[in-house]
Amino acid sequence: MTTQTKVVFPGTQIGTEEEYLQGEGTYSRGGVIIATLMGAQSERDAHITNPRSPRQIRLGEPVFARVDDAFDPIMLLTVKPISNERVIYPMPSIVHVSEAAPFYVDKLRDVAKVGDIIYGEVSKVNKLGTNITLKKPDYGVVLAFCTRCKKPLKLDNSGQRPILKCTAGCNLPEGRLISPYYGNLRGILERYKVENL
Ligand SMILES: [Zn+2]
Repeated sequence: MTTQTKVVFPGTQIGTEEEYLQGEGTYSRGGVIIATLMGAQSERDAHITNPRSPRQIRLGEPVFARVDDAFDPIMLLTVKPISNERVIYPMPSIVHVSEAAPFYVDKLRDVAKVGDIIYGEVSKVNKLGTNITLKKPDYGVVLAFCTRCKKPLKLDNSGQRPILKCTAGCNLPEGRLISPYYGNLRGILERYKVENL
Protein backbone atom coordinates (compact mmCIF):
# COMPACT_ATOMS: atom_id res chain seq x y z
CA MET A 1 0.00 0.00 0.00
CA THR A 2 1.31 3.47 -0.80
CA THR A 3 0.41 6.45 1.30
CA GLN A 4 0.32 9.94 -0.12
CA THR A 5 2.98 12.29 1.16
CA LYS A 6 3.67 16.00 1.00
CA VAL A 7 6.78 18.02 1.75
CA VAL A 8 6.80 20.18 4.86
CA PHE A 9 9.19 22.75 6.31
CA PRO A 10 10.36 23.19 9.91
CA GLY A 11 7.70 25.21 11.69
CA THR A 12 4.88 24.02 9.45
CA GLN A 13 1.70 23.44 11.43
CA ILE A 14 0.76 19.91 10.44
CA GLY A 15 -2.52 19.71 12.31
CA THR A 16 -3.96 19.23 15.76
CA GLU A 17 -3.50 16.40 18.22
CA GLU A 18 -7.12 15.44 17.54
CA GLU A 19 -6.36 14.94 13.83
CA TYR A 20 -2.92 13.30 13.99
CA LEU A 21 -0.69 11.18 16.15
CA GLN A 22 2.46 13.10 16.96
CA GLY A 23 5.43 11.26 15.37
CA GLU A 24 9.16 11.54 14.78
CA GLY A 25 10.28 14.87 13.31
CA THR A 26 7.53 16.84 14.99
CA TYR A 27 6.75 18.51 18.27
CA SER A 28 3.52 19.59 19.87
CA ARG A 29 2.70 23.04 21.17
CA GLY A 30 -0.67 23.93 22.64
CA GLY A 31 -2.29 20.92 20.98
CA VAL A 32 -0.88 21.82 17.55
CA ILE A 33 1.66 19.49 15.91
CA ILE A 34 4.56 21.35 14.27
CA ALA A 35 7.24 19.93 11.95
CA THR A 36 10.83 20.22 13.19
CA LEU A 37 12.41 18.67 10.11
CA MET A 38 12.03 19.26 6.43
CA GLY A 39 10.83 16.14 4.74
CA ALA A 40 7.95 14.09 3.56
CA GLN A 41 4.88 14.07 5.77
CA SER A 42 2.84 10.91 5.96
CA GLU A 43 -0.90 11.44 5.48
CA ARG A 44 -1.74 8.96 8.20
CA ASP A 45 0.27 10.37 11.07
CA ALA A 46 2.52 13.36 11.57
CA HIS A 47 5.91 11.71 11.28
CA ILE A 48 8.47 13.09 8.83
CA THR A 49 10.60 10.58 6.92
CA ASN A 50 13.74 10.81 4.87
CA PRO A 51 14.94 7.36 3.82
CA ARG A 52 18.50 7.96 2.50
CA SER A 53 21.50 6.63 4.42
CA PRO A 54 23.23 9.15 6.68
CA ARG A 55 26.65 10.88 6.55
CA GLN A 56 28.43 13.01 9.16
CA ILE A 57 27.81 16.77 9.22
CA ARG A 58 30.60 18.97 7.74
CA LEU A 59 32.37 22.15 8.85
CA GLY A 60 30.85 25.17 7.08
CA GLU A 61 27.69 23.30 6.16
CA PRO A 62 24.54 25.47 6.12
CA VAL A 63 21.76 24.40 8.46
CA PHE A 64 18.32 25.17 9.75
CA ALA A 65 17.91 24.65 13.47
CA ARG A 66 15.14 24.91 16.00
CA VAL A 67 15.96 26.53 19.33
CA ASP A 68 15.05 23.98 22.00
CA ASP A 69 16.38 25.84 25.01
CA ALA A 70 18.35 28.98 25.76
CA PHE A 71 20.34 29.88 28.84
CA ASP A 72 23.18 32.37 28.42
CA PRO A 73 25.76 31.83 27.08
CA ILE A 74 24.32 28.99 24.91
CA MET A 75 21.24 27.97 22.95
CA LEU A 76 20.51 24.26 22.51
CA LEU A 77 19.36 23.25 19.03
CA THR A 78 17.81 20.55 16.91
CA VAL A 79 19.68 20.80 13.60
CA LYS A 80 18.52 20.13 10.03
CA PRO A 81 21.35 20.49 7.47
CA ILE A 82 20.31 22.10 4.17
CA SER A 83 21.15 19.08 2.06
CA ASN A 84 19.35 16.36 0.17
CA GLU A 85 21.51 13.83 1.95
CA ARG A 86 20.59 12.46 5.33
CA VAL A 87 23.07 13.94 7.79
CA ILE A 88 23.88 13.03 11.38
CA TYR A 89 25.66 15.30 13.85
CA PRO A 90 27.22 14.94 17.31
CA MET A 91 25.03 16.20 20.14
CA PRO A 92 24.61 18.58 21.77
CA SER A 93 24.27 21.17 19.05
CA ILE A 94 24.62 24.74 20.27
CA VAL A 95 25.02 28.40 19.40
CA HIS A 96 27.38 30.20 21.80
CA VAL A 97 26.65 33.88 22.44
CA SER A 98 30.07 34.77 20.96
CA GLU A 99 28.85 33.42 17.59
CA ALA A 100 25.20 34.47 17.84
CA ALA A 101 25.39 37.51 15.52
CA PRO A 102 27.79 39.33 13.12
CA PHE A 103 28.18 41.93 15.92
CA TYR A 104 28.56 41.82 19.70
CA VAL A 105 25.48 40.65 21.58
CA ASP A 106 25.12 40.55 25.34
CA LYS A 107 22.05 38.31 25.73
CA LEU A 108 20.77 35.44 23.61
CA ARG A 109 17.17 36.60 24.14
CA ASP A 110 17.96 39.46 21.71
CA VAL A 111 18.90 36.89 19.03
CA ALA A 112 16.30 34.09 19.17
CA LYS A 113 13.77 32.52 21.47
CA VAL A 114 12.78 28.94 22.21
CA GLY A 115 10.79 27.47 19.31
CA ASP A 116 12.30 29.78 16.67
CA ILE A 117 13.89 28.38 13.49
CA ILE A 118 17.34 29.81 12.73
CA TYR A 119 19.57 29.67 9.64
CA GLY A 120 23.34 29.40 10.16
CA GLU A 121 26.36 27.21 9.49
CA VAL A 122 28.53 24.66 11.29
CA SER A 123 31.54 26.36 12.91
CA LYS A 124 32.87 23.43 14.92
CA VAL A 125 32.18 19.71 14.97
CA ASN A 126 33.85 17.09 17.15
CA LYS A 127 32.86 14.25 19.43
CA LEU A 128 31.75 16.73 22.10
CA GLY A 129 29.10 18.27 19.88
CA THR A 130 28.27 20.60 17.01
CA ASN A 131 28.53 24.40 17.08
CA ILE A 132 26.45 26.60 14.80
CA THR A 133 27.47 30.18 14.01
CA LEU A 134 25.25 33.12 13.01
CA LYS A 135 28.20 35.46 12.34
CA LYS A 136 27.31 36.26 8.73
CA PRO A 137 24.79 38.87 7.58
CA ASP A 138 22.50 36.29 5.91
CA TYR A 139 22.13 34.27 9.09
CA GLY A 140 19.65 34.62 11.91
CA VAL A 141 16.02 33.80 12.65
CA VAL A 142 13.99 32.70 9.61
CA LEU A 143 10.79 31.77 11.44
CA ALA A 144 9.69 32.97 14.89
CA PHE A 145 6.64 32.58 17.07
CA CYS A 146 4.84 35.05 19.31
CA THR A 147 6.04 34.80 22.92
CA ARG A 148 2.42 35.22 24.11
CA CYS A 149 0.16 33.23 21.74
CA LYS A 150 2.78 31.11 19.85
CA LYS A 151 1.42 32.10 16.43
CA PRO A 152 4.01 32.80 13.67
CA LEU A 153 5.44 36.32 13.57
CA LYS A 154 5.23 38.29 10.34
CA LEU A 155 8.02 40.52 9.04
CA ASP A 156 7.11 44.22 8.89
CA ASN A 157 9.44 46.21 6.64
CA SER A 158 7.43 49.44 6.72
CA GLY A 159 9.49 51.19 9.42
CA GLN A 160 13.11 52.32 9.69
CA ARG A 161 14.25 48.79 10.39
CA PRO A 162 12.52 45.42 10.00
CA ILE A 163 10.47 44.22 12.97
CA LEU A 164 8.43 41.12 13.70
CA LYS A 165 4.73 41.35 14.54
CA CYS A 166 2.26 38.76 15.81
CA THR A 167 -0.25 37.70 13.15
CA ALA A 168 -2.88 37.46 15.90
CA GLY A 169 -2.32 41.08 16.95
CA CYS A 170 -0.46 40.70 20.26
CA ASN A 171 1.49 43.88 20.67
CA LEU A 172 4.68 42.67 22.32
CA PRO A 173 8.14 43.88 21.34
CA GLU A 174 9.67 40.84 19.59
CA GLY A 175 13.43 41.34 19.40
CA ARG A 176 15.29 38.89 17.15
CA LEU A 177 18.33 38.71 14.91
CA ILE A 178 16.24 38.75 11.72
CA SER A 179 17.77 37.00 8.70
CA PRO A 180 17.18 38.69 5.31
CA TYR A 181 15.63 35.32 4.44
CA TYR A 182 12.97 35.58 7.17
CA GLY A 183 9.84 33.75 5.97
CA ASN A 184 11.62 32.71 2.75
CA LEU A 185 12.74 29.15 3.44
CA ARG A 186 12.18 28.36 -0.22
CA GLY A 187 14.71 31.07 -1.16
CA ILE A 188 17.33 29.43 1.08
CA LEU A 189 16.74 26.05 -0.57
CA GLU A 190 17.14 27.64 -4.00
CA ARG A 191 20.41 29.22 -2.88
CA TYR A 192 21.85 25.76 -2.23
CA LYS A 193 20.07 24.18 -5.21
CA VAL A 194 18.19 21.88 -2.88
CA GLU A 195 14.63 21.15 -3.96
CA ASN A 196 13.31 19.64 -0.80
CA LEU A 197 14.68 18.47 2.49
ZN1 LIG B 1 0.56 36.66 19.57
